[in-house]
Amino acid sequence: MSQFDFLIRNGFVVTAQGINKADVSIAGEKISEVSREITADADEVIDASGKYVLPGIIDPHTHPVYLDDLKGLSRTAAHGGITTVIHYAYAKPGNELLEVIDNYKEDGEARSYLDFGLHGGLFDAENQAEDVPKAVEMGVNSFKMFMTYAKLGWMTDDYQLMRTMDIIAEAGGMGMVHAENGLATDYLQDKYNDKGLDPVETFLSTRPARLEAEAINRAISMAKVAGCPIYIPHLSAKAGVEVVEQAKRDGYPVFGETCPQYLTLTSDRVLSDGPLAKIGPPLREQKDQDGLWEGLRSGTIETIASDHAPKPKKSGDDFFDAPFGSPQVETMLALAYDGGVNRGKLTLPQLVERMSTNAAKIFGLYPEKGSLKEGSDADLVIFDPEMVHTIENETQHSNAYYTLYEGKECLGKPVSTFQRGKRLLDEGELHVEPGNGKFLETEIDH
Ligand SMILES: [Zn+2]
Repeated sequence: MSQFDFLIRNGFVVTAQGINKADVSIAGEKISEVSREITADADEVIDASGKYVLPGIIDPHTHPVYLDDLKGLSRTAAHGGITTVIHYAYAKPGNELLEVIDNYKEDGEARSYLDFGLHGGLFDAENQAEDVPKAVEMGVNSFKMFMTYAKLGWMTDDYQLMRTMDIIAEAGGMGMVHAENGLATDYLQDKYNDKGLDPVETFLSTRPARLEAEAINRAISMAKVAGCPIYIPHLSAKAGVEVVEQAKRDGYPVFGETCPQYLTLTSDRVLSDGPLAKIGPPLREQKDQDGLWEGLRSGTIETIASDHAPKPKKSGDDFFDAPFGSPQVETMLALAYDGGVNRGKLTLPQLVERMSTNAAKIFGLYPEKGSLKEGSDADLVIFDPEMVHTIENETQHSNAYYTLYEGKECLGKPVSTFQRGKRLLDEGELHVEPGNGKFLETEIDH
């Protein structure tokens, strides 16, 4: 019997600390050694010459409830080089938070291709917040509220936001908010609707960057008062990055996330693609995109996540009635690499930190995840920096009807991945069965 199950030879091993030419050996579910040259024999030797070996990519923001369910979302994510996802377990008004968490957990354990954690999504914080301490005991430690979508009845007002953060802090968890001022944006939308103005042309004016920045500032302030760490998903505006940056300078426990759509697209796509490019917060201006890259580079923004939420919509649909969201998870790594590393906006170790290590640390999964150390879970990605490929909806594995990146050529692609020592993806084929994924309890370091 060989000493190792797999030996990955001659690759460039990339961690948050740097890039080193090294061999990686895997025994069972764990990385057993990373060193310049490993000579012991293995059941299977993989030549990774000219390729990068990255820790498994973690996507901490996914919604497995639209066109891709938990099984389908994990499948399309796996094809994009992701090995761990953290889904939002959405407790809609009238739902019991703990029951929702149980259902997601059970569904994931039965059908997920990937290891997964959960965030609680509180649509009705007033009636759901009291279950937060029990959710924490179940291994769910982060809880999102909406500061927007007032008309949909999903908004958490300031009273309940303050109260919920107080409860979350007490339970040792972390708050999260969709930060846009819901009442102010609803007023603006009413104003433009009353005037009979075109909803596509006025979409951006009804959800301006300043009202995102305002909500971020308000949420961070309440979190500070409550003593609650806070994570801001899907930062889209430079003004919002500046608020997070200032709060960090003041020593607040705040974390920032952005998404590939905000890093690669701008608002002109709303005019050209209509409902397909309707996402919330909206696609913004070039200066916002530049501000997000700078925020990532400086560390103000810790993570890149997909906010994968494919909805059944077509370009000719009524814009106003079309739902928010887009398919993103499979293209995320390739786009972030191409837009960030190839264009000199991030180094490769920075990209790895922001797409793997930071999320693992923030959500208490490190060093099992987010790391290529001896003893870490053998979750890794073999990435070919020379492979040119074109993104097409037809070859994606999502059930979405479209991709916002149709025809985009990218340089660099994940070609092979491992999860806990098993081959997950190789040459475009998945090698594990649904149900291989394991539920991961998160933990927030206070
Ligand atoms: Zn989302």
